[in-house]
Amino acid sequence: MSAEDIVPDLGDGTRAVRAGLPDPVKHEPTLPGPVFAAHYHLPGDPTGPYTYGRDENPTWTLLERAIGELEAPGRDDVETLVFPSGMAAISAVLFSQLSAGDIAVLPNDGYQALPLVHEQLRSYGIEVRTAPTADNAQLDLLDGARLLWLETPSNPGLDVCDVRRLSEAARARGCLVAVDNTLATPLGQRPLELGADFSVASGTKQLTGHGDVLLGYVVSRDASLMAGVRRWRKIVGAIPGPMEAWLAHRSLATLHLRADRQNANALAVAEALRGRREVTGLRYPGLPDDPSHKIAAQQMRRYGCVVSFTLPTRARADRFLDALRLVDDATSFGGVRSTAERRGRWGGDAVPEGFIRFSAGAEDTDDLVADVLRALDVATD
Ligand code: PLP
Repeated sequence: MSAEDIVPDLGDGTRAVRAGLPDPVKHEPTLPGPVFAAHYHLPGDPTGPYTYGRDENPTWTLLERAIGELEAPGRDDVETLVFPSGMAAISAVLFSQLSAGDIAVLPNDGYQALPLVHEQLRSYGIEVRTAPTADNAQLDLLDGARLLWLETPSNPGLDVCDVRRLSEAARARGCLVAVDNTLATPLGQRPLELGADFSVASGTKQLTGHGDVLLGYVVSRDASLMAGVRRWRKIVGAIPGPMEAWLAHRSLATLHLRADRQNANALAVAEALRGRREVTGLRYPGLPDDPSHKIAAQQMRRYGCVVSFTLPTRARADRFLDALRLVDDATSFGGVRSTAERRGRWGGDAVPEGFIRFSAGAEDTDDLVADVLRALDVATD
């Protein structure tokens, strides 16, 4: 029984702390520990729920229930599958739903590994069309498509597209829609309610939030689509370890606290950066004058913890990163400790050399803003 069955219309915090918990059992812990099992006792006919460790695991079951409750509160028709990383989840949807001759529409400004995925899809005879996230540009490519992939807000550019509008247009053409919900988290955005067939995410980022777990998940209301995703997970063997799944579930209990603090910090950093002459291209969907804000405000409940901006040169960006004391120079985002990086160091993203992706952590706001402003001063030519 989920908490929602007992008290409908729960707040996000209440839902997060109770998500996926089993009914209480006397002398058992509230959240049972990880189950380490390659196989289960199975006399007689091999029926479920637990037969072999690559197919199912009770620790996944609880985590899957928890994520489903957050992505689609109050619904009992959702199915969730967890994966060992966000890329495993993304690949599971794309490669289970598409076959030779199909057309897929993807963003050309999304997560850095997507171009590798494009190449792989093309090698299987799948046509890949791409367009930017901004201005709903993928709308123009939908004719004849089998699957539309959205990443909103996009990483690292923080553009936002209108999920409801794109989903309606796709549905009218018999095209499936998947949304990468990594940056927003289910507390920030619920793609299934906006009309998507799949919500897919990396749980490595703010969902688990401590920079110590890789995880991914897929959620959908369509059991036949999920049967394909489940089959893919089984044949590829892309399964999370029980310890990671348990750590992820444990972390969900603080998701609302982390998200609220981190996102407030992101807004405060963005506001502080706005006053600096050396900063250009500042983006945060929660800033009222951000180009993404109007659509974001229609479909998002929280705007995430990532801010992006550009310093005049690569050297200045490096000096800024070096001068930060409370912000680690590291990739990824969403953790409780602030991180930032010069995104251009990887190649691959179409960003200027001085482009910084900044992920706000859960530090005290004044400390964080002061550190950023001081590092900008130190980095001045
Ligand atoms: N989707 C987005 C938007 C990401 O930023 C990332 C990683 O940075 C991924 C997917 C991939 O997630 P993972 O690293 O857990 O495979």
